[in-house]
Amino acid sequence: MAVLNRLMSRCRASSLIGSYSNSVRRYCLNTIEGDGKLPLVSPSAASSVPHPGPIVKPNSTGGRSVQWVFLGCPGVGKGTYAARLSSLLGVPHISTGDLVRHELSSHGPLSSKLGEIVNQGKLISDETIIDLLSKRLEAGEAKGESGFILDGFPRTIRQAEILEGVTNIDLVINLKLREEALLAKCLGRRICSECGGNYNVACIDIEGENGSPRMYMPPLLPPPNCESKLITRSDDTEEVVKERLRIYNEMSRPVEEFYRSRGKLLEFDLPGGIPESWPKLLRALNLDDLEDKKSLAA
Ligand SMILES: [Zn+2]
Repeated sequence: MAVLNRLMSRCRASSLIGSYSNSVRRYCLNTIEGDGKLPLVSPSAASSVPHPGPIVKPNSTGGRSVQWVFLGCPGVGKGTYAARLSSLLGVPHISTGDLVRHELSSHGPLSSKLGEIVNQGKLISDETIIDLLSKRLEAGEAKGESGFILDGFPRTIRQAEILEGVTNIDLVINLKLREEALLAKCLGRRICSECGGNYNVACIDIEGENGSPRMYMPPLLPPPNCESKLITRSDDTEEVVKERLRIYNEMSRPVEEFYRSRGKLLEFDLPGGIPESWPKLLRALNLDDLEDKKSLAA
């Protein structure tokens, strides 16, 4: 709780946020390559996306810090891309859902309070989430972790402001997918009732129009032994999905603006499925060299 109390009192004194964030934590990625340097995101690399992204400046050690946030509406696949980047860059992929589940299952100091909130169907407060996150970041720092990729946080402008008092975020990747593709993807989701496997039966093939290219995303079909056991989540109906997207857009727009005004937002329009999108995302982040080196070394 000490961290949280310190944090919240700092946040109330908003003028202190800047200096606090600079002194609390500096991660830098200086172990990923022999020379301790990662390429910088350059304007030319980011030009493949509609809005040129921010230029990530080298930190004092000359390496590039990876304290990144993934934004994107439910179903866009941000968890998948965040997980891939985290393994490529050797930094943890931290989702607040996982933090809550971990706290509950590990019977940590907050677990009984959390259990109560979850059982009553209430929303977990920003303070509690930030408390869990600060502890996770502190533990990671103690273990020598060189950065992180946050997935699904911050969701609101208030969370973004509090987060700014805890740590420096250097890049925010906003993943976007055309609404019709997103809707089809969400409606095509299936879960195996036996093994819990996630599949998608939607075959998305949207013809190009008004300058946008054709978009093809193949289905992710289950293996034969799961086929007869597929279920659809009860909230994956068109009405509910559309409402979820509407709420997300309403809440996230100010968060996007918050990071855009700080020059940290990289907009990325997903051109299709993973095979098509992954190399383009790496190029936009100027990381394609890194993956080539890694696959040569493997
Ligand atoms: Zn199964």
